[in-house]
Amino acid sequence: MERIDTLITPRWCIAVEPTMQVQEGVSLAVDKGRIVALLPTAEALGRFSPGAVHERPDHVLIPGLVNAHTHAAMNLFRGFADDIPLREWLEEHIWPAEGRWVSPEFVADGTRLAIAEMLRGGITCFADMYYFPDVVADAAVAAGMRAAVGMIVLEFPTAWAQDAGEYLTKGLAVRDRFKGHPLITTTFAPHAPYTVGDETLQRVRQLADQLEVPVHIHVHETAHEISESLSQYGRRPLARLEGLGLVTPGLMAVHATQLDGDEIDGLARAGAHVVHCPRSNLKLASGACRVAELSEAGVNVALGTDGAASNNRLDLLAEMQLAALLAKLTAADACAVPAAEALRMATINGARALNLEQEIGSLTPGKSADVTCIALAGLTQDPVFDPLSALVYTAGREQVSDVWIAGQHLLNQGELSRFDPADLRARADHWQQRLLEFAL
Ligand SMILES: [Zn+2]
Repeated sequence: MERIDTLITPRWCIAVEPTMQVQEGVSLAVDKGRIVALLPTAEALGRFSPGAVHERPDHVLIPGLVNAHTHAAMNLFRGFADDIPLREWLEEHIWPAEGRWVSPEFVADGTRLAIAEMLRGGITCFADMYYFPDVVADAAVAAGMRAAVGMIVLEFPTAWAQDAGEYLTKGLAVRDRFKGHPLITTTFAPHAPYTVGDETLQRVRQLADQLEVPVHIHVHETAHEISESLSQYGRRPLARLEGLGLVTPGLMAVHATQLDGDEIDGLARAGAHVVHCPRSNLKLASGACRVAELSEAGVNVALGTDGAASNNRLDLLAEMQLAALLAKLTAADACAVPAAEALRMATINGARALNLEQEIGSLTPGKSADVTCIALAGLTQDPVFDPLSALVYTAGREQVSDVWIAGQHLLNQGELSRFDPADLRARADHWQQRLLEFAL
């Protein structure tokens, strides 16, 4: 008998790759943080001697969800300024509040709150863009969470850096500090074409090419962004990025709600990725991403929650469901983005956008054991004709029961193993009081 750490025995399993087929009666064998095999349970019991067996008789096992765009620490701004358009929301509410309060302590507390929320909802990896990325990475490591930490770049001073040069220098120091860490990778995260100038974007492109690091940027989020770029630069933001050499397989174009047919073809030709954030786009009335056309053109579309200030939940199951529904409305086609495609967007496509597809995104032997288990039974879900349909169209994050990251059991039957909820809530309350004083 082969000694292994863990055997997980769900009712159903969707591995995503090599197949989206729902499998029944299989078990996932995990050892030293990696997936050893996905095989019929009878065979598993004959071959392995597991340290722990987790039977989940009403559940579906899937790869951990990948949140390909968020600003984790902004959980402390959840509900702080709602029902306002993007530019006014940023310039009159969020940036002034950040200017007053953002500090390493704020980022640590906000990120921990966000990680707890994400784990509770089955997310095992997040791509972040925020100040103090070193603090974000430390919070992720302490929680056992996987993170692609953004080396944020802006032209204006914040508590993190004074100018573009300092943002880059400090970002690269964070990258060096976590190089080779099993849970932490980095991206370049220039905020947006309207907050970062040509010279800085060129520098980002040179560094990204040299270091083979993805470039994570908000782009074509609103119609206003397009018209402003046309008057300031004489071209649309994506054309400007293309001119600067940034439309490459390393590009993570976040939002992309304003795309014409040529731009969709251009993204496909370049092998660039789009990160679709449907709830944020709806809440800020930014526009609708043409997801069905992007997928058809061959563009890899991943999913993100965006920050809690513009969403207001870091809930990738909700994004997955909404992405499927909204794509049908946008394309006027009920066949657009079927359940299987929505699950791919929430798992392997996110892994691809982050250049992590060798490590996560499917239940493939050899990959890291980043796994989510969801209960698909009960009055709100029965009957389950098709577990894939139930997962995408019926399930809510309350049904997430277990999460493993690199084999660590971080959510065990609904309980977070590394967080004290009372402590997290006290820290949220502490910052709420400060933000209230500031707003008065
Ligand atoms: Zn964002």
